[in-house]
Amino acid sequence: MRDAGGEITSKAQKVHDVIIVGGGPAGLTAGLYLARARMDVVLWEKDMPGGAPALTERIENYPGFPGGIPGIELAERMRQQAEEFGLAIKPFCPMRSMRREDDLLVVMGEEGEEAARAVILAMGMRPAQLGVPGEKEYHGRGVSYCATCDGAFFRDAVVAVVGGGNSAVEEALFLTRFASRVVIVHRRDRLRASRILQERVLRNPKVEIRWNRVVKEIRGDGKRVHSLVLASTESEELEEIPVQGVFLYVGNIPNTEAVRGFLELDERGFIVTDEQLMTNVRGVFAAGDVRKGSVWQVAGAVGDGVRAALNAQYYVEELKGIAYR
Ligand SMILES: Cc1cc2nc3c(=O)[nH]c(=O)nc-3n(C[C@H](O)[C@H](O)[C@H](O)COP(=O)(O)OP(=O)(O)OC[C@H]3O[C@@H](n4cnc5c(N)ncnc54)[C@H](O)[C@@H]3O)c2cc1C
Repeated sequence: MRDAGGEITSKAQKVHDVIIVGGGPAGLTAGLYLARARMDVVLWEKDMPGGAPALTERIENYPGFPGGIPGIELAERMRQQAEEFGLAIKPFCPMRSMRREDDLLVVMGEEGEEAARAVILAMGMRPAQLGVPGEKEYHGRGVSYCATCDGAFFRDAVVAVVGGGNSAVEEALFLTRFASRVVIVHRRDRLRASRILQERVLRNPKVEIRWNRVVKEIRGDGKRVHSLVLASTESEELEEIPVQGVFLYVGNIPNTEAVRGFLELDERGFIVTDEQLMTNVRGVFAAGDVRKGSVWQVAGAVGDGVRAALNAQYYVEELKGIAYR
């Protein structure tokens, strides 16, 4: 909306150049670039900044850190570097929805709203649920979606990891530090994880793989998990295996509920963007795991954060009639 003098204003009090939603690697990188370019930028984060790496034991494939780096340390370094350039981070500030007001975009939260000329969406994704009996009942009492968070509770226990991708195999290897035995339950006859992870897991004496099996039920005594019921994908065979913990890595759901109906999502809920990482809503960009076509890696999210930041910067400068290039 424009006031009598033609200036852009909003019902929301202050107009930023850019609002970033999500404080993982994509959002923090975008924030670093925009703050360093002296843009007026604020980052909304629903929890504490850091994103998925803050919950990952070790990251070995992010360039620049031979020997790897603890995920929490990488997340903390990213936050610190962005703040050094003046990025304003609002922790515990979830976006609930968005709307457009003429040339402005308004981000709405629980305690108010803020307006900006451009928005970068970097909300990442969360683990999918398996949807079997016992999963909800025993969540936090043996059922977990985060080995880094909960693995240490399973010292000398037998645990199962469900899934066959990179996350499942990485976390299974991590759990061998604590558990006496780790049983990977996978519905196929080969893992999807990268070759180096497969090699490590296949030669680890603590790991056993139950191929061609799906989980039918998670059983317990009312207080804690005590077993898993597995079904063969090739026969009618059912078996019950004793475990004290179950870690589920069976897919991911993008955190896009707040923008559903506002912009274009693919059939799985990931945000569709063009080559500039702009969505079908002018001025709204997406970066990282939440974007359709993401490689779901830290380095990929960082690259996306750079692209979204630069394109958002050019978009805002054009809107303000500034031409530096
Ligand atoms: C177990 C595990 C192991 C992994 N290991 C590796 C590895 O070894 N190497 C590698 O490169 N990658 C690894 N990854 C993947 C990597 O962590 C992600 O690709 C990367 O973190 C994506 O960054 P992002 O910023 O897009 O999203 P995220 O890191 O998920 O950050 C998104 C942020 O947005 C916030 N958010 C969500 N909704 C809202 C909202 N409505 N309002 C405000 N904030 C919101 C979230 O709280 C979160 O902080 C691993 C992932 C997992 C789960």
